[in-house]
Amino acid sequence: MDKPERPKLKRLAGGRALPEQAVDIPSAPCFVARAATQSRAGDRRQSKIGGLPYFPDGEAWPACKGCGAPLTFLAQFKSADAPGMIAAPARMLVMFYCFACAPFWDVEGRGFWAMLTPFEPFAPLLPEKKMPIDPHTPPELALRFAKTKDHPAPTEWPASGGLSDWERNELAARRPNVAKTKLGGFPSWCQSPDAPRCRECGQAMRFIGQLVSDIGLGLHFPDGGRLYLFECLAPHDGEVPLSIVMQTE
Ligand SMILES: [Zn+2]
Ligand SMILES: [Zn+2]
Repeated sequence: MDKPERPKLKRLAGGRALPEQAVDIPSAPCFVARAATQSRAGDRRQSKIGGLPYFPDGEAWPACKGCGAPLTFLAQFKSADAPGMIAAPARMLVMFYCFACAPFWDVEGRGFWAMLTPFEPFAPLLPEKKMPIDPHTPPELALRFAKTKDHPAPTEWPASGGLSDWERNELAARRPNVAKTKLGGFPSWCQSPDAPRCRECGQAMRFIGQLVSDIGLGLHFPDGGRLYLFECLAPHDGEVPLSIVMQTE
């Protein structure tokens, strides 16, 4: 009864059927970051790239453990804006990076720092005059998120032996990986998959999201890099261990 419509497939393959069942490609929701239509300039309690961060007053500004320079604030994400993507509710995820060292693999958290802090609408924040002046800070851009379905990049597919290049490409088009700045979903690896293990307990870490060099969002990493953020879901006293991996094309 149901007649599948596959015009694209027919056009490309002359009617050849695609063995979609041959590879079980998982899917998961992700939230893609876009410029907010209504920006609230200077609002330090919104999800955004650059500008001044949500940073509790009384805390010391983070320094790079490699070179000692103050870290650069990159971006912050409110968990409420991307429900379910950050493990704990009512949190702000604030990310810092050292553009002097520009680390590409940093499980130890030397040249980057990510703070997963409770979000309190009225908490006093660190005054601007107590923050370092930093030319690397991206221009402020408020973010909104669009929920969509994500899939692993082909390099992460489960055993897909026997697929031709065409079949792999066609499956990748139908089960796309969202290679944008996002929370949740699957990493858009530029190179081989390289998910880190927790520096404290050794467990595999969960992918939180990624920041992708993107003119539209004002994000520029060395060599057009992408920054992937992971968290450990095992119980730990105190801070949740976070790790980043950076890759370039
Ligand atoms: Zn450094
Ligand atoms: Zn751990």
